[in-house]
Amino acid sequence: MANIRVQENRCTGCGQCVPVCPVKCITLGPRPGGPKGPFEKMAVIDTAACTLCKACVSACRALGEKSCNKDLFSAIEIQEAAAGGDFSAYRGVWCVAETRRGQLSPTALELLNIGAKLAAALKEPLCAVLAGHGVEKFAAELAEHGAEQVYVIDAPELKDYLDEPHAAALAALINAKKPNKVIFPATTMGRTLSARAAILANTGLTADATELDVDAATGLLRVTRPTFGGNLMATITCRKTRPEMCSLRPLTYPKAEKNPKPLAVERFTPEAGALACKSSYAGFVSEESGELDIGGAEVIVAGGRGVGGPEGFKLLHELAQALGAAVGASRAAVDSGWVPYRHQVGLTGKTVKPKLYIACGISGQVQHMAGMSSSDIIVAINKDPDCPLMKQAAYAIEGDLYEVVPELIKTLKNPS
Ligand SMILES: Cc1cc2nc3c(=O)[nH]c(=O)nc-3n(C[C@H](O)[C@H](O)[C@H](O)COP(=O)(O)OP(=O)(O)OC[C@H]3O[C@@H](n4cnc5c(N)ncnc54)[C@H](O)[C@@H]3O)c2cc1C
Ligand code: SF4
Ligand code: SF4
Repeated sequence: MANIRVQENRCTGCGQCVPVCPVKCITLGPRPGGPKGPFEKMAVIDTAACTLCKACVSACRALGEKSCNKDLFSAIEIQEAAAGGDFSAYRGVWCVAETRRGQLSPTALELLNIGAKLAAALKEPLCAVLAGHGVEKFAAELAEHGAEQVYVIDAPELKDYLDEPHAAALAALINAKKPNKVIFPATTMGRTLSARAAILANTGLTADATELDVDAATGLLRVTRPTFGGNLMATITCRKTRPEMCSLRPLTYPKAEKNPKPLAVERFTPEAGALACKSSYAGFVSEESGELDIGGAEVIVAGGRGVGGPEGFKLLHELAQALGAAVGASRAAVDSGWVPYRHQVGLTGKTVKPKLYIACGISGQVQHMAGMSSSDIIVAINKDPDCPLMKQAAYAIEGDLYEVVPELIKTLKNPS
């Protein structure tokens, strides 16, 4: 339940906060103590529905700033958790190990890699969490890669992925065991799961991180992520609540090396009814494109606005085929409708880390670089030698891609 209240002595019942509430949880009702002078009604907040967005707080405060009577308005208060509370009961770095259709996601081992460094810095245990049905079989692999403790929540309600029961299960485990830090993968599932679990565990979440470390003086998790459209990197800490939670972009860190720990599994069963869910799982339909996925590809041929249209991507597909590569794209190419979104690389697309990234007609804006700059070798083909990607590339080929790419294809097909 949200910790928000309306101060009866300050609320005038003007109703200005009612329309600003995005979840429509404010109404005007009678004052508990009867009318106060000319003010008959006051704001009443359905705290069960309130998301603590603070829109009403700002609206009412703005009225207070304009009012000549300083005793009125600024009536809505949200009680924040006290800074620097006693968090000594919270211990351990947890990595949420995602499974998809019977497979352990590679992100699980990526999280264990950075999780081990954080745990070592904090001198706290490194743990992994598996939630699903029939998932305990993955615990051994997690222990093999450094997890000192594996928490398993196994329930038929968790067989297929649905946000509601999975978040409820994790939040119940978090509330019971009190970890210090919880890291989720910022995958499609992990992004929604972490947000819901953070709300249920009544703590903060920094989403979509690209770097994690621990502040040596305070032990706080420092979560770095792009902001302002990728133009700035922000480092965010969560000082007032525990656990500190974040989601981490896939491929940000390599998978953990083998570092076997004795297998220690602790099974956790949420209370009866805790996994009840309003939605039901209808089925999973995968996109049958027949193409290599850029996510795990070792070689990517990517095209941008310079490709000029969907026809140009046929040429890139030809080069990709000759190299056994996947086809990527900038957002400009995706937004133009030349290739589907699944090809997009960058801040709002996928992060990739191939051995070879060939960028054709892509200028290399910071939002694109955010998704591919850790590729081992970058080759840029561009008419403009001064664009950012040409400067970043190990091999910058100045020229028209429509001249360079056919030459490359010819050479690859006839190497002699
Ligand atoms: C919040 C936010 C999120 C974003 N997320 C992403 C993201 O995830 N991914 C992403 O890519 N972008 C993203 N963008 C957009 C990004 O800012 C750029 O607009 C985009 O990356 C530009 O794509 P581009 O390089 O293909 O196009 P341009 O910047 O227009 O570059 C086209 C390049 O093609 C070259 N060229 C033209 N013709 C030829 C030719 N015949 N041969 C060779 N070279 C040629 C030009 O010299 C130029 O360098 C985001 C932007 C915002 C604000
Ligand atoms: S809480 Fe503020 S904005 Fe809302 S009715 Fe009361 S005085 Fe008006
Ligand atoms: S904090 Fe947001 S959700 Fe809660 S009552 Fe105010 S406007 Fe509505």
